[in-house]
Amino acid sequence: MFDRLKILYELQNLDDQLDELEELRGDLPNAVEALKEKIENYKKEISEKEKERKNSLEKRNDNEEEVEKLKENQKKFKAQLYQVRNNKEYDALTKEIDHTEEQIVKLEAESDFLADQSKKLADEIEEINPQHDTLKEELKAKEADLKEIIKANEKEEVKLRAKRKEIEALTKKADYSAYMRIRKAKKGKAVATIKRSACSGCHNIVPSQRQLEIRRNNKLFFCEYCGRILVSTEIADTVDV
Ligand SMILES: [Zn+2]
Repeated sequence: MFDRLKILYELQNLDDQLDELEELRGDLPNAVEALKEKIENYKKEISEKEKERKNSLEKRNDNEEEVEKLKENQKKFKAQLYQVRNNKEYDALTKEIDHTEEQIVKLEAESDFLADQSKKLADEIEEINPQHDTLKEELKAKEADLKEIIKANEKEEVKLRAKRKEIEALTKKADYSAYMRIRKAKKGKAVATIKRSACSGCHNIVPSQRQLEIRRNNKLFFCEYCGRILVSTEIADTVDV
């Protein structure tokens, strides 16, 4: 039982040190993630606008070809007007001419609209591009900072992680899941000791009878107030910090 308690204390000890290393990174990991997301969004926005612009240009080209064709037809129809033999033919032909004219007007109006749209999209892309570039620069700088911090403590972290793995393997499954659950709920601290008759986690007084029981090191006790695992100072003293 002594070892079981000692292992939990050691686990906490290693996690404290790893947490400290994590803290050195400050907000950098979050900032890097946030920047990456923003950059990805800009990238998506730019590529969507470029696609839209390309479609718009293609449609305009199609329209222009169509208008050319219609104008050719129009010429033919107008030439035919001079050769009509009766009113019926004349009416049919003028109807054709009017219809073609309507189509031309419609297509040209659409092309004008598409041209405006293309211009608007180009302006928007031009506006986003520098913002996109700025964020990319920012990300580069932040990533470099983070890398430097990580590198400075790399050896220590690798050592701590290896040691933690060893200890984790030695921890009883039920103890480990209790430890992790409390650690999550209590922002890192799952194991507390008794200091001046109080729980070192929440500073509430531990009844003296309970203190006696804890000192026997033969049972897992939880603080009545904060729920942390309580170990005796004797256990704590056997663990090298
Ligand atoms: Zn407590």
